[in-house]
Amino acid sequence: MPELPEVQTIVNGLNKKGLNKKIVSMNEIRKGTIQNFVGENISEIGVISSIKRRGKYIIIKTSKKLKLIIHLRMTGKLIFETELTKTSDHTRAELVFSDNTKLIFDDVRAFGKIQIYNKEDEVESLEKLGLEPFSKDFNEKYLKMKFKNRKSHIKSLLLNQRVVAGLGNIYVNEILYRARISPKKKGNQISLKKLKTIVEKAKEVLEKAIKHNGTTISDYRSVEDKTGKFQNFLKVYQKEYCECGHQIKKVKQAGRSTYYCPVCQK
Ligand SMILES: [Zn+2]
Repeated sequence: MPELPEVQTIVNGLNKKGLNKKIVSMNEIRKGTIQNFVGENISEIGVISSIKRRGKYIIIKTSKKLKLIIHLRMTGKLIFETELTKTSDHTRAELVFSDNTKLIFDDVRAFGKIQIYNKEDEVESLEKLGLEPFSKDFNEKYLKMKFKNRKSHIKSLLLNQRVVAGLGNIYVNEILYRARISPKKKGNQISLKKLKTIVEKAKEVLEKAIKHNGTTISDYRSVEDKTGKFQNFLKVYQKEYCECGHQIKKVKQAGRSTYYCPVCQK
């Protein structure tokens, strides 16, 4: 599933290629991919005026006061295509631009969605999100406050989008390994000092992953249909041995695979 660095890479790519393009049509190829909350037929979508990320969501605003909220879920991809006739077997929707290029929404598992709202509409899923990891307010005091009375494992707390927005399974594994903290540790039992390390490692890992255009394990591609490179820098996710040569353990936590070093992570 694309996480913050992958979604940010896509947003960066979209900003380079899609900003100021006029959308002439939006075609839904698989029913249910586009959800329209505007409530009437949209005659014009307009020109793309801004493209941003919030958590794992992509937010595209247009000159006609609409916003498109895109979530890629498990396997969604957004690919720029210069040939109008080109599609793939998994194309679920496409945005066609006035210069005869288009943006393809390709999604093997088909869980991804494009939602259309009016620009001012409140979007519940966005309102509920926790802080962005790069924000100044995302610090050890914030985590301490969020983890108060929480007996869940640190792993699930960091995956919770209402605590911090944008982290997923790969990066949480990597952050906890780099912070030397066991994924099984309960949130309310972690010291302020250790929480500070988690915050620092989170910012560090995400920044480096964005620099390398994200992590491609299977489906993720940039808008140029290229893979990311951060998979080459993973230290624990799907690894057999840690940097110190200990055997990495793989367990399931809340249905997700956790990789950790039982020696290094306490
Ligand atoms: Zn180790």
